Amino acid sequence: YAGKRRNAGVAVYRPSDDQHSPDRLSLMGELRQAVERDELTLYYQPKVDLTTGRVSYVEALVRWIHPVRGMVPPDQFIPFAEQTGYIKVLSRWVIDKALAQCAAWRAAGIELDVSINVSARDLINADLPHTFAVLLDKHRVQPEWIWVEITESALMDDPVHAMQTLDALYAMGLRLSIDDFGTGYSSLAHLKKMSVHEIKIDKSFVIGMTEDSDDETIVRSTIALGHNLGLRVAAEGVETQLVLDRLRTLDCDLAQGYFLSRPLAPDGLKAWLDTWHAD
Ligand code: C2E
Ligand code: CA
Ligand code: CA
Ligand code: CA
Repeated sequence: YAGKRRNAGVAVYRPSDDQHSPDRLSLMGELRQAVERDELTLYYQPKVDLTTGRVSYVEALVRWIHPVRGMVPPDQFIPFAEQTGYIKVLSRWVIDKALAQCAAWRAAGIELDVSINVSARDLINADLPHTFAVLLDKHRVQPEWIWVEITESALMDDPVHAMQTLDALYAMGLRLSIDDFGTGYSSLAHLKKMSVHEIKIDKSFVIGMTEDSDDETIVRSTIALGHNLGLRVAAEGVETQLVLDRLRTLDCDLAQGYFLSRPLAPDGLKAWLDTWHAD
């Protein structure tokens, strides 16, 4: 299948490609200031429970509202923050903000679990479990309300330390989810060794699954694999009613995607939830 999926190899210039570019240096300075100046914000994308139709889960996705560049997507600064080591500060900010929001929802009677994305660098950082412990305590949030999304590739750099961090997070009662499932290497070997609660099928298989029978086979097999291992299975990238219906037929547990809702600011999410649960 690899050949079929390889893209045309179009080169896209990114400031992070060039270690010494002035753009890269200024981006670093701006990213540092962004946190202090409150230019970062979290949006939340709902995940629909395909059995009950209800929404009790949302994923936090960081947004940078830059005064000049406008909305900078995370793909353009997360990898950069990882390379420079700034991700540690950024992730702490994300966790703090997401837990505060989770606590605020709970206080308002809105029972939402929140997923947080962490990167490879976070996993080899021995402080991560401590950071979670301190912030869970600060916001009086139960660990089982929080899902930590990690990609398989994040485990590859330093599998031993990454696994130690994951074990510590698991032991604290946090929920673990493998993101972009199916796109990394040796998925099965890792899955066997890791204690996780959920796999999230990568959107590259989900988006066109009703058009491409290979994609549908991959999605169907992944759902069966997850269930046989006792895991919850989520699908991201649900862009059509057809895909949503198909996932329900295939017994997938959760669906997330633009067809249901884009990531929203907290106010927008509240309004969306009221409408969703009204009918
Ligand atoms: P991800 O964790 O795989 O998140 C899913 C991405 O797919 C999000 O892009 C989301 O907006 C987008 N998406 C959701 N539904 C659909 C759909 O139906 N179709 C399509 N085509 N896309 C959909 P976003 O927000 O731009 O984030 C991109 C990536 O940046 C994330 O991928 C994640 O790896 C990273 N990221 C985002 N926020 C954070 C964060 O707070 N911390 C870290 N470490 N990484 C983050
Ligand atoms: Ca994710
Ligand atoms: Ca994903
Ligand atoms: Ca991704």
